[in-house]
Amino acid sequence: MKIDVSEIIEQPGASIPFFETGSIELDADGKNDISAPDPFTVKGVATSTGEGVYVQANVTGTVRLACSRCLADFDMPIEFDCEGRFVDDPDAREYEDEDDVETYALFDGYCILDDMVQGGLILSIPMKPLCEERCKGLCPACGANLNETQCQCAGLEGQATLFGRKLLEALGERGKEDGSSKEKDV
Ligand SMILES: [Zn+2]
Ligand SMILES: [Zn+2]
Repeated sequence: MKIDVSEIIEQPGASIPFFETGSIELDADGKNDISAPDPFTVKGVATSTGEGVYVQANVTGTVRLACSRCLADFDMPIEFDCEGRFVDDPDAREYEDEDDVETYALFDGYCILDDMVQGGLILSIPMKPLCEERCKGLCPACGANLNETQCQCAGLEGQATLFGRKLLEALGERGKEDGSSKEKDV
């Protein structure tokens, strides 16, 4: 995704609106749980600052995430705003301490939006995504997806049931021992 800003670059204060669609690479830094199969829409305004171009954008799209409770993939609509400063030499010291706005490179009169959009997108993705607010997750005892099935561990709390079953088994064993010793006594 790139926007042609060559016509405003020499006119400080001049703006142009833009509207772009394109896909965003998300797997680059090993976040395998996240993908964006469909193109994103990026719309906004680019304004010449005299030393570069300031871009403000609104991004909408869909990301595919793995639910942090049940581990199933699901698509989540996402929308966020992002902004960036585009200059010929983004590593120049003068931009370092200015503000929180990231600086990107201008290429031959074009702003390449991908890094800016990708950065905003990663900040917008929840740390612990849920396929739905009421996701029941996986049974802690048997691992079944409780949204899809009611497992054999049935009961209010899978873990409590497992604990209870073990307790009963242990009591049962003790009962047998007691029984056998009683039989000996008889
Ligand atoms: Zn889930
Ligand atoms: Zn279970």
